[in-house]
Amino acid sequence: FCSETKTFHSLRRPVPLPPDSVPLNAASFSLSLIPSPLTDQPAIIDAATGASVSYPDLLARIRNLASALRSRAGLSRGHVAFLISPPELDIPVLYFALLSIGAIVSPANPLSTPAEIAHQIRLSNPFVAFATAATASKLPPHIPTILLDSPRFQSFFDPNPAPLPPVEIQQSDTAAILYSSGTTGRVKGVALSHRNLVALIASYHSAAKEAEAEEVEAWPRVTLFTVPLFHVFGYFMILREVALGDTVVLMERFDFSAMLAAVERYRVSIMPVSPPLVLAMAKSDAVVGRDLSSLKVLGCGGAPLGREVSESFAARFPSVEIVQGYGLTESSGGIAGTNDQEENRRYGSTGRIAANTEAKIVDPTTGESLGPGQRGELWVRGPTIMKGYVGDAEATASTLDPEGWLKTGDLCYFDHGGFLYIVDRLKELIKYKAYQVPPAELEQILHSHPKIVDAAVVPYPDEEAGQIPLAFVVRQPGSTITEEEVIDFVRKQVAPYKKVRRTVFVSSIPKSPAGKILRRELINALSLAKSKL
Ligand code: AMP
Repeated sequence: FCSETKTFHSLRRPVPLPPDSVPLNAASFSLSLIPSPLTDQPAIIDAATGASVSYPDLLARIRNLASALRSRAGLSRGHVAFLISPPELDIPVLYFALLSIGAIVSPANPLSTPAEIAHQIRLSNPFVAFATAATASKLPPHIPTILLDSPRFQSFFDPNPAPLPPVEIQQSDTAAILYSSGTTGRVKGVALSHRNLVALIASYHSAAKEAEAEEVEAWPRVTLFTVPLFHVFGYFMILREVALGDTVVLMERFDFSAMLAAVERYRVSIMPVSPPLVLAMAKSDAVVGRDLSSLKVLGCGGAPLGREVSESFAARFPSVEIVQGYGLTESSGGIAGTNDQEENRRYGSTGRIAANTEAKIVDPTTGESLGPGQRGELWVRGPTIMKGYVGDAEATASTLDPEGWLKTGDLCYFDHGGFLYIVDRLKELIKYKAYQVPPAELEQILHSHPKIVDAAVVPYPDEEAGQIPLAFVVRQPGSTITEEEVIDFVRKQVAPYKKVRRTVFVSSIPKSPAGKILRRELINALSLAKSKL
């Protein structure tokens, strides 16, 4: 699987992709992929209320909404629709309706602050925003806003929509703008094309068809979402689950014990999760006495899953498989994963690279490609790699090379069997419970404090969260600003998961001659200090 040019090729069977001329609209995207004849099984269930939509209803709602978005909201191909809402029943409907008319969906974390939202809006330049009564106040006033919980939005589901000519969509059109800070700096808008999503869904679809052909034991596929729909993990999973005709269970507000109750009530068989949830399930007493016998698979990704956590989970839930996946917003989601029981047991590995995808391991200092067993930066290439960062040619050029390789910023190696191991992160990014925390954003806030001269934020290991942001702070001479004050100052300006959780006061921040923070030095100093404790 590793050629002479040190390119790693996928060991999965190649998946044929539809020609560029095939548009990704509601019909070709969902209708043709959902098992026919359409069953009456629920497509989407709201976990708290039990309200549900069947597949025939879902497709009718998508069509009706798509028509009203054009005729009544004035949306057309290429317009961006910003979205700030908890994961309600109508959100997947809106995603598919926007996709089907060539509009670009750009979902944001509803916990974001108005300043964070304003930054994202500057990047994506939306035509309209969709929000709830509770989240709308975070939007800048100049953005036309449609409230999802308003009678106006509900009237968009008019069962007799105006007949409209079909929309011409090309696969190279942008389908979504998701947000990621990439390898460095502040949050950027990641443009994913229809082609990216078609390729992603096609590979899941062909895997499902293969399993069907091989008569692999089938069980009801009921998927409970514990990951947010605005993050690439939830975004591609919702497209995938609907495309495969599974039942999706959404929780408007995540809560561990409500999640366990939902697994029992809806006989949930699949849950996409991030590592802290695997840890909670392995350790928490709340699972005792619960009937979780329907659970078959946890699809885990977004951050590293420790071998010990996998082992204690397996000891407690021997009949539940953990499928590991690795990916980035910039790769539309999973580009490596485990595929069967044997692969799932390779604890510590994130599996093999996905169909149609190639990889390289590149020495970060020499730029040389390396073979199996050698560590370097992972580069990936394939049909799911993003178009680029919107309006940021410089960041795009430093992340995507001219041959289409995406530089992941992750330090990795392949073993001789083609299994990928993520060793460390070369990029700045901190992941708190798999949520992105860009250090540059926190540093900018710290720099704005009158009693702080300089600051640098780095990851600090944490058993529960994976990593927490730790700030190195240089005080103004004579200042006695405390750790509590620093933490409080940042807390007021960022979404809760981005909070600085520890502070170390220092006399200076190490920098390169070009003025770049030498983060590795700071991280090494921390681990040295920890090992001496
Ligand atoms: P995001 O764009 O938020 O999905 O973040 C992508 C980054 O999360 C990757 O570049 C990795 O650093 C990290 N990541 C995602 N999945 C995994 C995994 N299975 N194991 C280790 N790190 C992961």
